[in-house]
Amino acid sequence: MSVQLETNPYLDFISQEIEAKRDVFIRLSDTIWGYAETRFEEFQSSALLSEALEAEGFTVERGVAGMETAFVASYGSGHPVAAILGEYDALSGLSQRAGLVEQVPVERGGNGHGCGHNLLGTGALAAAVAVRRCLETEKLPGTVRYYGCPAEESGSGKTHMVRAGLFNDVDFSVTWHPMGYNGIFQANSLANYQVYYKFRGTSAHAAASPHLGRSALDAVELMNVGVNYLREHVIPEARIHYAVTNSGGSSPNVVQSEAEVLYLIRAPRVSQVEEIYRRVCDVAKGAALMTGTQVDIVFDAACSNLVPNSVLEETMYRNFVALGTPEYDADELDFARSLRATLTDAERNHVHDPALRDKDLADSITPPHTLSTRRSGGLGSTDVGDVSWVTPTAQCTTACWVVGTTAHSWQVVTIGKSSIAHKGMLHAGKVMAATALEMMRNPALLDQAKRELGERLGDETYASPIPEGVQPAARR
Ligand SMILES: [Zn+2]
Repeated sequence: MSVQLETNPYLDFISQEIEAKRDVFIRLSDTIWGYAETRFEEFQSSALLSEALEAEGFTVERGVAGMETAFVASYGSGHPVAAILGEYDALSGLSQRAGLVEQVPVERGGNGHGCGHNLLGTGALAAAVAVRRCLETEKLPGTVRYYGCPAEESGSGKTHMVRAGLFNDVDFSVTWHPMGYNGIFQANSLANYQVYYKFRGTSAHAAASPHLGRSALDAVELMNVGVNYLREHVIPEARIHYAVTNSGGSSPNVVQSEAEVLYLIRAPRVSQVEEIYRRVCDVAKGAALMTGTQVDIVFDAACSNLVPNSVLEETMYRNFVALGTPEYDADELDFARSLRATLTDAERNHVHDPALRDKDLADSITPPHTLSTRRSGGLGSTDVGDVSWVTPTAQCTTACWVVGTTAHSWQVVTIGKSSIAHKGMLHAGKVMAATALEMMRNPALLDQAKRELGERLGDETYASPIPEGVQPAARR
């Protein structure tokens, strides 16, 4: 069955609505850039966004799914229900002053918005506000919801929200991510588990009575060696990373009685992560056995792989093309040139769209991959994956960074309050609002997107990758 498509009649309305409030949105984003709160501690950021949505006539439910910094803001009633996903968490260790073309932290070791989630949360809010205004003005049926999603970075806030059933009546979801290009975000993200391995041994004087000690730090080191040997014997798409989160203290003359390592295990599918996770647990138990220590395995977070939706992605792309791309002035282009000069050659060449090779800022829209050219595997993981299992979901990207910028870098933080980033953020808001409104007013298109999700899942059903009993927590 072919679905009738026509030019989205709300494009001008959406653009005018978002441009009229640009100063409000920019202030929100810049303020959140300054808060730079990390996972599950986004108290000020979530309060600011939820208050702004209340001021726009949304009804806000705070503290959802057992997370103080999660909220859902709604406007309208009945179906279709459009979900617009916003994030606002920062990263530790990425403190950086804004607007510089060199790395200078505001506070050494401090937090920074190294993934641009200040823009992400606010751009999504701009989209929700524009959709809400359009529903009201045009007297359209349906509900628009802004999902305030905490802890995207290694906390999987959305996975908890999906598990709590908050997406059960949602018809489709849209979101976005700041990037160095304009287009549809098609990285097939990897499923992951994040797990602590906490070793306990016996302390002793390291010279006088080492035979009485049992070193937890030895266990951590042997576990890491074991896992590094395991790497060769897992599927090549898997990624295994670790951080030693407790090395047992800073005294070499004490046998370390406690030590801890945090593992992040990724693979294209949850079932593959589960299989590797069990083998990593065996390595940990082996390390404990070798060293005469005990190991506690503490599950922290997990997320599912992304299920793409071509119908929704194509709708988003069509609206993006209709809206065009932002334009830049000479100062913006100068800043972009200087900032891009700080990237390594390898970073500058790490660009998938050949049209962007010699550009400092993207000025075109990268065409989406077709199913046959879509890359398997992915670059990272996102808890948007869990949402995509339960409702058709698509993401766009806009140029908020210079071409070749990698996420989680100081270059992301320094550009995060610039007019370039603001333009990208507002533009993303327009693309998402236009996509949402087109889906809401075309039931046949929405049905097609839902059918596609059903076909992609086949006989698989969603199961939360987070084990029962594991609750969200900032620290464990
Ligand atoms: Zn991110």
